[in-house]
Amino acid sequence: MLRFTNLWVADGTIKPPFRADILTDGSTIAAVSTEKIAGIPASDTVDGGGMILAPGFIDAHGHSDIALLAAPEGDSKIMQGVTTEIAGNCGLSAFPLTGLNREHLEKLYANYGQSLDWSDYTEYRARLRAKDPALRLVCLCGHNTLRAAVCGYGNAPLTGGQLAEMERLLGAALDAGAKGLSTGLLYVPGKFADREELVRLLRVVAAHRGVYATHLRSEGNGLLESVAETLEYARLSGVGKVQISHFKTAGKANWSKLDGAIRLIEDARHDRLDVTVDRYPYIESMTQLSVILPPPWDDLDDVEIQKRLRITETREQLTEELRRSRPADYWEQVRLAASSAPRWCGKCGKTIAELGDDPARTVVEILAADTASACGAFRGMDEANLKRIMALDYCMPGSDGNALPLDGAFGSTHPRAFGAIAKFIRRRLDESGDISDAVRRATSLPAEVFDLSDRGRITPGYSADLVLFDPDNINSPADFAAPRTPASGIGLTVTRGRIVFRA
Ligand SMILES: [Zn+2]
Repeated sequence: MLRFTNLWVADGTIKPPFRADILTDGSTIAAVSTEKIAGIPASDTVDGGGMILAPGFIDAHGHSDIALLAAPEGDSKIMQGVTTEIAGNCGLSAFPLTGLNREHLEKLYANYGQSLDWSDYTEYRARLRAKDPALRLVCLCGHNTLRAAVCGYGNAPLTGGQLAEMERLLGAALDAGAKGLSTGLLYVPGKFADREELVRLLRVVAAHRGVYATHLRSEGNGLLESVAETLEYARLSGVGKVQISHFKTAGKANWSKLDGAIRLIEDARHDRLDVTVDRYPYIESMTQLSVILPPPWDDLDDVEIQKRLRITETREQLTEELRRSRPADYWEQVRLAASSAPRWCGKCGKTIAELGDDPARTVVEILAADTASACGAFRGMDEANLKRIMALDYCMPGSDGNALPLDGAFGSTHPRAFGAIAKFIRRRLDESGDISDAVRRATSLPAEVFDLSDRGRITPGYSADLVLFDPDNINSPADFAAPRTPASGIGLTVTRGRIVFRA
């Protein structure tokens, strides 16, 4: 049993913070009492020092599927007060695995040193549980992983049998507890999916009352079409909940499209489609560096790209093409955010322009060294739009980052991994001053969307996932120069009744 006293409770709802003692019993909340709870020894009492006690934060969009197996302490998340992460996003999940996608994913996750020898969600889940992680992971089934498990990474049209097999595997994952389907329609092989494929898969999601979370086909030039596509598939399939991942307007030419995108979303909400969004509070994105490659490279998977880049002549041709197609100042907007290649991992955080006189050649060399692990950070978002998106009542924080250890064992990253959730709360507090609403965004809102009926509130019977934070100091000082700087203002994090972090 743990007793929490001398604090204000922001219970996850819009109710203003109130004074109370909280008692946990094992992994659940046993009592919320406005009277002092007596009879608990001092050794089991946490003095909150007048801070806010909230339900453990839920990171609505993460990618810790494999990272948490390698480092179950979950430093970057629990140090921000995150106790649950929604993983398996952007079409990329740790299951189902077959001979057609295992090698690809092992390459992608090579720096975590895990052998990906399971096949389905149940087996993966057992593997994760055995590590007793400090962070609770809730998984979506990723469409890219699912598609590759059945058809590989090519763009040949699917046969009826392949589509039926995808439906079967998705249904099995949802039966076993996965919460929905995620897509990454920008990436290979998800980008090859047509309407019939996606609607049929979403019908399986609808039958399980799951969520459809999507990294849109385009977040820039095709933003409005991509939002419309998403909503159309939801309507055709009957799926009731849609989460637009890291909602943004990418590229200056598209900043003016925010009004149109919000209108589409809010019209759908008005029509009782439950559309919500997540966002990290930064204007630089991060994804695989290979997304900058021109056709036909953009239809190739990492393994194939790296294979082709072994040929000197091919490397020269690609270098020349990048020189021609990208303006010189473009390379000041792109930063090397991560790489496992020995030559490049120490140079993360710098822009491509800073890494050498011939940026096109530099990029090709980075990709040739290790395509799968090379990540770029891309500037191109608008600060004013970021503020507007975060102000949307249905926007919740999503880091788009991994649970990473503080010691940097798995290399560099975007500062969002250690800071997105704390910074989101800071920015909402600065904007509105409303502690209850800031907490709601990171707790009961995602809990409702992802159907986590035991989380997101401080109420007897709910899971004892808690965070104690100082509303004056919660923030993230992490940046690209020092991405592993822990969040500030977090006093204590409790997962299932266990103290997993204390400042
Ligand atoms: Zn994404």
